[in-house]
Amino acid sequence: MVRLLALAAVACAEPPPAVPDTAPEPVAPEPVVPQPPPPPEFTSSVRPLNDAERTAMTGITWRPGCPVPLDDLVRVEVSHHDFEGGVRQGALVVRADTADAIVAALAAAFAEGFPIERMEPIVAFGGSDDASMDANNTSAFNCRAVTGGTRYSEHSYGHAVDVNPAQNPYISSSGRTVLPAAAADFVDREDHRPGMLFADSALVASLVGAGWGWGGAWSSTRDFQHLSANGR
Ligand SMILES: [Zn+2]
Repeated sequence: MVRLLALAAVACAEPPPAVPDTAPEPVAPEPVVPQPPPPPEFTSSVRPLNDAERTAMTGITWRPGCPVPLDDLVRVEVSHHDFEGGVRQGALVVRADTADAIVAALAAAFAEGFPIERMEPIVAFGGSDDASMDANNTSAFNCRAVTGGTRYSEHSYGHAVDVNPAQNPYISSSGRTVLPAAAADFVDREDHRPGMLFADSALVASLVGAGWGWGGAWSSTRDFQHLSANGR
């Protein structure tokens, strides 16, 4: 009887399961390091004008007899920096064959961090260039007479853009007319401040590189907000 118990004890005394020599080390959780938000990305789109936009523009910024038909105009939408450190969506109406150059220039301005206060088609201002300038609005197409004259402005052809009028005034050759009036503080182009255009600004350099002209480089009248495909 004693012997049987001893055998049973031996039978039950199986070795414990082998413990691996290299048990994995407990993995410490990754410390949570706050990451800065990713930098905003430039986005853009180009599309034909829709029926509502054509109707809103007709009689206001476009009318029969204007040099460019509505079918040749497109709406460009882009992201742009504002003056408060944010990013907004803006829109311009331009002639279709200038859209690529304008988008490239606005992308370059975005990469540079160039602020633009506001960018809305000028129909939002009843077609008034003065109202748009007073609102420091960046705009492009508007079928209207040239400032101080009767011939069609280059904006009537959809191949000109005015950028941040408040920081980039139109200055007549005599210097007596500054438009908009609020831009009088920006007649001195040596005092560099955000939103001002210069020959080496990314936006200006991009369009000039595409063959455009900048009104800030004119010798008599100067129009620092104005860039156009034919340089006028
Ligand atoms: Zn202009």
